[in-house]
Amino acid sequence: MANSTNYEVIIIGGGPAGLSAGTYTTRARLSSLLIEKELIGGQIVNAEMVENYPGFAEGISGFDLTQSMHQQATKFGLETLMARVTGLELDGRQKIVKTTEGDFSARVVIIAGGSERQKLGVPGEVEFTGKGVSYCATCDGALFREQPVALVGGGNAAISEALHLAKFASKVTVIHRRRQLRATRILQESAFAEPKIEFRWDSTVDGIEGEGVVQRIRLNQVPSGEKSILEVAGIFIAIGFIPDTDYLKAMLSLDDAGHIITNENMETEVPGILAAGDIRHNSARQAITAAGDGATAAISVEKFLTEQK
Ligand code: NAP
Repeated sequence: MANSTNYEVIIIGGGPAGLSAGTYTTRARLSSLLIEKELIGGQIVNAEMVENYPGFAEGISGFDLTQSMHQQATKFGLETLMARVTGLELDGRQKIVKTTEGDFSARVVIIAGGSERQKLGVPGEVEFTGKGVSYCATCDGALFREQPVALVGGGNAAISEALHLAKFASKVTVIHRRRQLRATRILQESAFAEPKIEFRWDSTVDGIEGEGVVQRIRLNQVPSGEKSILEVAGIFIAIGFIPDTDYLKAMLSLDDAGHIITNENMETEVPGILAAGDIRHNSARQAITAAGDGATAAISVEKFLTEQK
């Protein structure tokens, strides 16, 4: 809940970038409000085990990692509001952040809104979302105990999720549009060694079908054009992320995919508006780099506010 409508800093997004920024801005004694639309933690909340975040030799779940980040920032005075940001406007030097819970103003805004799961865009996808179509294996995997499922994608997220699904499902068919996975070697090795995981290479999904719930998917073998049907109880889609930046188009420079362009200090071309984490052009898309972006942004903010006094 927000205790005020006016802050020195508003942070949009509660993933590692926003939480790290919040820890730094509050420790700099800047009044700070973090606005998150869904769940504190961002995309990494879905990671069952994070093994590459420095300091956790035994690994840590994405949920525990980000809960701890949130507690840390809250301890220093970060306020958190659950709301969806719908617009950002300038009023002189003030920035007005429009949300589903009202308008809030700040001298500085750090945009750390991350990105959302890319949709496949095939018939049946929308209709069966929540009825067998899922974008989160960690959340929904256990619903498919001893049932066959499909998973679309070949990146780190897809292969991590396939390994997670293999704990529950009777079989996991990974459908990838090429012959080579994009996922890192260590994940590939684990997936190839897992007997429950099978691969359909050079394949795309043409449609998702069933009576009330998902029962089968239509596949297309890319080089030959050969069509087939795969019977599954669920289909998980892990084909990347798109940034939620439509509301910023008129104000900020975005790259072709919609990511915000910043300099190395995380500053956009609008003084007092910064961006950090996956939403930023050229982000390495890792929790640790997002946290680093957040810290860099907060340090830039402190400097900016001191110079503007
Ligand atoms: P990603 O690395 O961009 O991979 C997306 C995958 O989906 C690619 O294999 C891509 O195929 C496929 N794809 C994209 N659009 C498609 C479409 N329309 N139809 C079918 N397939 C499609 O995305 P990600 O796996 O979600 O990962 C996002 C970022 O988070 C990455 O930087 C990743 O390294 C990071 N991440 C890291 C970990 C970790 O353990 N360190 C875990 C999860 C995510 P192509 O290969 O043919 O392009």
